[in-house]
Amino acid sequence: MRYLILGSGPAAIAAARAARETDPDAEVIVATEEYGSPYLRPHLPDIVSGEKEPAAIADPEGKKLSAWKIEVRQGKRARRVDGARNRVTFSDGTEETYNFLLVATGGKPIVPLALMANPGSFLLLNSLGDALRIRARAMRADASLVYGPGYLGIEAARALRKLGQQVTWVNPGLPRFGNPIPGDIEAKVTDLLRKNGVRIKEGTDIADVLDMDGGTFAVRTTGGEEIRCQAIVVATERLPAVGFLEGSGVKVGTGVLVDEYLRTNVSNIFAAGDCAEVFDINRKESRINFGWRSAIKQGQLAGENMAGGGKLFIRNAEDYFGLLYGSSLQERAK
Ligand SMILES: Cc1cc2nc3c(=O)[nH]c(=O)nc-3n(C[C@H](O)[C@H](O)[C@H](O)COP(=O)(O)OP(=O)(O)OC[C@H]3O[C@@H](n4cnc5c(N)ncnc54)[C@H](O)[C@@H]3O)c2cc1C
Repeated sequence: MRYLILGSGPAAIAAARAARETDPDAEVIVATEEYGSPYLRPHLPDIVSGEKEPAAIADPEGKKLSAWKIEVRQGKRARRVDGARNRVTFSDGTEETYNFLLVATGGKPIVPLALMANPGSFLLLNSLGDALRIRARAMRADASLVYGPGYLGIEAARALRKLGQQVTWVNPGLPRFGNPIPGDIEAKVTDLLRKNGVRIKEGTDIADVLDMDGGTFAVRTTGGEEIRCQAIVVATERLPAVGFLEGSGVKVGTGVLVDEYLRTNVSNIFAAGDCAEVFDINRKESRINFGWRSAIKQGQLAGENMAGGGKLFIRNAEDYFGLLYGSSLQERAK
C-alpha cells in the first residue's frame, strides 16, 4: 500500500504517523512545497520580533518522520491530481502515484484586491520564509503597516512593535472564515497594543497603494486616510489551498468537501486540517475547523481511516483555533 500525503503541516505529519502505525508495512510519503524541516507555524510572529530563532520553532513531531520511516519529498508543489489514474503531478514536472491520497495543504492568506494590483508592495505572514522576509524588511524600515483582522493582525502588530517599528494596524473587521477571538479579549488586547504605541485603524480597508520611491509606500484607506510606511504586512485569515484539485474529480466548496470520515467524494482521497470542509454530523453542516489542534486531530483520523480505521470525526469546540504556545495573548501584547 502506498499513502501519499500532500503538505508538511500538523495535519500531514499526524496523518503520516497514524498511517505508519496502522499499516506498518506501507509506503508513506509526504510531499510538500516547503524546503526545510516542519515548524510550529503559531510561533512565526516570534521570528518576526526576534524573540525566537528558526531552530527553536522546529516541530518536534516533524523531527521524528525519518525514524517512522516516512519519506519526505521537499520542494514539491502539487499542481494537478488525476483522481482516475491515482497520480499527482508537481510543479517541477515530477509525478507520484498512490493507493490513498491525503490533501493536507492548509491555507494561504487572503490578499486584499488593492494590494493584488501591486504584487511587490506587500509581504505575507504565513510561512517561515515569510517571517524571515518580514524581519529582514523591517530591519531596514522605520514604519510598518499591518493589514488583517483578529488574532493574526494583533500578533503581527505586536511583533513588529517589539522590533521597534512605528506600526499602524489596519483592522478591516471580523474574520470571515475562522472563529473570531472573544470580543472582550480582543478589546483588551487592542487597548494594550494602543498603549504600546500601535496606531489602530478599525473598520477600514486598503483602497490603494502607491510605491513612492522604491522604498516607501503611500497606503490610502477606504476612510480617506494616507499612511506612509516602508513595509506592508498581510496577516489575514487563510483560505484553503486547493486550487490544484481543479479537474481532479474531487468536490471542493470553500475547502475540500469531506464526510464525517474525512473522505472526499473520490473514495481513496481524503483531506484534513485547514484545507478541509468537514461534515459535522451533529450540526448537519460542513465547515472548516481552522487551527493547529484541529489539524492534528483530523490528520490522525484521516491517516487511520485511509488505512481502514473507519473512525468518525466529532467536532469539539476546544478543537478550534486557540493560542497554543507561550504566554497568553494579553501577556504577549504588554
Ligand atoms: C502567523 C500564524 C499564527 C498562528 N497561530 C495559531 C495559534 O496560536 N493557534 C492555532 O490553533 N493556530 C494558529 N495558526 C493557524 C495554524 O497554523 C493552522 O491552523 C495549522 O497550521 C493548520 O495545519 P494544516 O496542517 O492544516 O496546514 P498548514 O500548517 O498550513 O500546512 C500545509 C502545508 O501544505 C503545504 N502546501 C500548500 N500547498 C501545497 C501544494 N500545492 N503542494 C504541496 N504542499 C503544499 C504548505 O506549504 C504547508 O507546509 C496560526 C497561523 C499563522 C499563519
